[in-house]
Amino acid sequence: MQYEAVIGLEIHAELNTKTKMFCYSLNDPDEQHPNTNICPICMGHPGTLPFINEDAVKKVIAMGLAINGTIGEFSQFDRKNYFYPDLPKGYQISQYKYPIVSGGYLEITTQGTHNKEQEKKKIRVTRIHLEEDTGRLSHDKDGKTSLVDFNRAGVPLMELVTEPDFRTGEEVRQFGEALQQIVRYVGASDANMEKGQMRVEVNISMRPVGQKEFGTKVEVKNINSFKYAADAAAYEMKRQVELLERGEKIAQETRGWNEHKGISVSQRSKEEAHDYRYFPEPDLPPLRLSAAYVEEIRIHLPELPAAKQERFMKEYGIEGDHAQIIVREKAIGDYFEAVVSEAMQHDKETPDAPKKSLIKTIGAFMVGDFMRLLKETMVPVSEVLLTPENFAEIVVLVSENKISNTNAKEVFEESFRTGADPSEFINEKGLWQMSDAGDLENIVAHIIAENPQVAADYRSGKTTVLQFLVGQVMKETRGKANPALVQEIMKKLLG
Ligand code: ADP
Ligand code: MG
Repeated sequence: MQYEAVIGLEIHAELNTKTKMFCYSLNDPDEQHPNTNICPICMGHPGTLPFINEDAVKKVIAMGLAINGTIGEFSQFDRKNYFYPDLPKGYQISQYKYPIVSGGYLEITTQGTHNKEQEKKKIRVTRIHLEEDTGRLSHDKDGKTSLVDFNRAGVPLMELVTEPDFRTGEEVRQFGEALQQIVRYVGASDANMEKGQMRVEVNISMRPVGQKEFGTKVEVKNINSFKYAADAAAYEMKRQVELLERGEKIAQETRGWNEHKGISVSQRSKEEAHDYRYFPEPDLPPLRLSAAYVEEIRIHLPELPAAKQERFMKEYGIEGDHAQIIVREKAIGDYFEAVVSEAMQHDKETPDAPKKSLIKTIGAFMVGDFMRLLKETMVPVSEVLLTPENFAEIVVLVSENKISNTNAKEVFEESFRTGADPSEFINEKGLWQMSDAGDLENIVAHIIAENPQVAADYRSGKTTVLQFLVGQVMKETRGKANPALVQEIMKKLLG
């Protein structure tokens, strides 16, 4: 029998607000000292009252608009009751019946099921709601002591739930990475998964192909990247199919992902599931979100990655996969456009066709050397020493044949690492390309004189040796000769 997977995600993201969700304690994910950013409100002292962080609400609304969702005119907080040592109040303030966002979708690109063509697929979002994070427990190796740090308790957390629309782990990875990108574009969360700022739970079941009803689902937690989410999905598909083929039932349970072993391990069964006894939070007023309030947030939304990619392709003629890399971070896309704008300044008079080729060269430097150097130096785009102006200058110098491609790479790297002025560096190193026909003619003549046998071979029809002779000139000039010009002069002198 053929089986197919049915997968839905629950994704949490810590919002990057200044203060916590219901008090004025700082929301600082980098705070190293435990229990520093706490106060009687987030510690759940009796008699204290929470109040709503408006910035957090705005960030969730922005996310809702970014995924084409509906913003509820009425929204309410609820208490989710359970006991755990990292939860000082004995309940978490969350949203149950009236989340801020309902519905919506994100489009991903999938490998088509019937042919190998890529297809767009909409993954429906069920809801996005706002809640608070818990503290952090750390357990000693001896198993006798546990410590609790409440710095994270009360930090604003958005939870996004999807419909069970995924069929493969690859789709999960794509959606997760796209969402992470949007959260960052919107400025709602830093969404660093290693720091736990973004967390994903994968719900997965199997069913025979053609069957409408869903099978029993398993929820997999402790997943630290979207790559692992895809791995976990693939592992679960295989595990569940093996059980089904042996005629066994799938147990509805929560499993943990062990990334080192690449396996999932049972954590708790459905019988152990909580009854949270949700009820409306009596200490907070409900939210009434007017159309005007939502509209104000909508008009301040940045251009989102998919739209930006599309525009870069149309407006600048950048190829799809290059555009995709350039829009990966908002700051990189902005940087790219600053370089293009500088290059256009240089070249106001140039007709359109060469301009396009100039932009293509900028695109190639962006996805090649620029991305490589970002990764190597681990410098954020905002702190890169190579200014867009200097970047543009280098590209223009290449297009005008004033420096060779190879030397341009050297200049680019130097300016990137040290902020060196390109022209000064080229002067200092003597990297200007030799395009003076008179100078080059002397050198070419000299190389021909030094290689009489090769020259004779060429003249007797073995034209392939031309490359050898051009190579000798390049060597002699330490890469500075304009190769096209050398070839032309060489042919003339040999002819
Ligand atoms: P629960 O009440 O167990 O939390 P929900 O109905 O809230 O379940 O769904 C949680 C997530 O699980 C959602 O992302 C949803 O799309 C997904 N889901 C629900 N049923 C299934 C199923 N049978 N197989 C796979 N995923 C499912
Ligand atoms: Mg759930």
